[in-house]
Amino acid sequence: MATTTLQAFNYIQTFSCLAERCEANCCEADWRIEVGSRPMAVYRDVFPELLPLIASDAGGNVMKQVDGQCVALTAGRCSIHAQAGESALPDTCANYPRMYRRLNAVTVRSATMSCPEISRLVLFGDKPFLREQITEENVFISGVNQQHLDDFDADNWGGVIDFLMNLTQSDDLSVPQVLLRLYDLVQGLATIPEAKWADHIAPLAAAYSPAEASVESVNAGPVLIVLMTILKSSQITEEIRERVVEMIAVESEELPPRTRLGIKPAWRAMASGAVGMALEPILKKYIAAEITRTGFPFISTTSAGRDYGKTLSEWASTLAIRTLALRYLLLAHCDTDLQHPPEPELLVAVMYRFCRAANHSPATAPEIDLRLRVSGNGSGLLQEIAAA
Ligand code: SF4
Repeated sequence: MATTTLQAFNYIQTFSCLAERCEANCCEADWRIEVGSRPMAVYRDVFPELLPLIASDAGGNVMKQVDGQCVALTAGRCSIHAQAGESALPDTCANYPRMYRRLNAVTVRSATMSCPEISRLVLFGDKPFLREQITEENVFISGVNQQHLDDFDADNWGGVIDFLMNLTQSDDLSVPQVLLRLYDLVQGLATIPEAKWADHIAPLAAAYSPAEASVESVNAGPVLIVLMTILKSSQITEEIRERVVEMIAVESEELPPRTRLGIKPAWRAMASGAVGMALEPILKKYIAAEITRTGFPFISTTSAGRDYGKTLSEWASTLAIRTLALRYLLLAHCDTDLQHPPEPELLVAVMYRFCRAANHSPATAPEIDLRLRVSGNGSGLLQEIAAA
């Protein structure tokens, strides 16, 4: 029997698909389901009757959708799974919500919080980011890019990821401080070969000093515009959009759009008080989960391309911008009367919908624009956006 050694995080090792009990089954989620070359060959050679279920787009072969639902889903069951078995599933379905990345001989298993059960396990599970090395028989991994790094092994990867998990979950740092340190850290990492990162990451982080303030005048506007464009996705309910609109204040019609928007005093007061503090651990878990999902800081390519950016600086900027956008989204779901953060089930619902919208579509134009401005201007601009 074939065996595979994996590095895996606790939140995915404890995952079990909710199937028909799922509140938002992924077969009905209206996103691109990539088929991949291996299952396509199986359909052509062995199950040609499945070929009418397949369409193609600019990225390759995908499952057809009708009314946002995969056409293979019939009477609550996947007809490809029923007819051809698990090994014939499209690449996306074979893995989802798992994410695999291969760095030399290191295979890493993580997952995406666009699955509600993964969101639940990340936010409320026991030690979600504990990592373990496991050996499994007949692990089925489909469509994973192999990345080669000189002289790189599992210890190099483990040293980096352990450091980052401790940094992001530190009680001594606020969310903006975590984001600024990550941004600063990758500037140093970018000058060193990946195999030496584990040795240098702690001294680099210890050398952090706050940047000069940016010369740009910013407020909450740029991040709110990014959030509003992410929320245009079909994964987002009207109720979620309305909550955000209710929180936003147009501060002056005369200002340019990106400095015109802010948040109303009731939400601003919550953000700087106990409610804002209650959101901090949630956001830190999001940061850590995104690090594990994207393979940060080892830049890699997914079916959506290098959707987090092309350089380490762009990746750190994207992570910061999405975290700050999520902060506003969660704030919009806090109760201004009771001065209370969202209840756990609402948190899960908002989180997985945000991740579906942000992770399963190409980055929006305002996000790319802000990413390039932050990565091009240095951490001074990030500091201002995070403090807005
Ligand atoms: S979204 Fe997650 S829990 Fe729900 S059906 Fe898909 S994999 Fe299972």
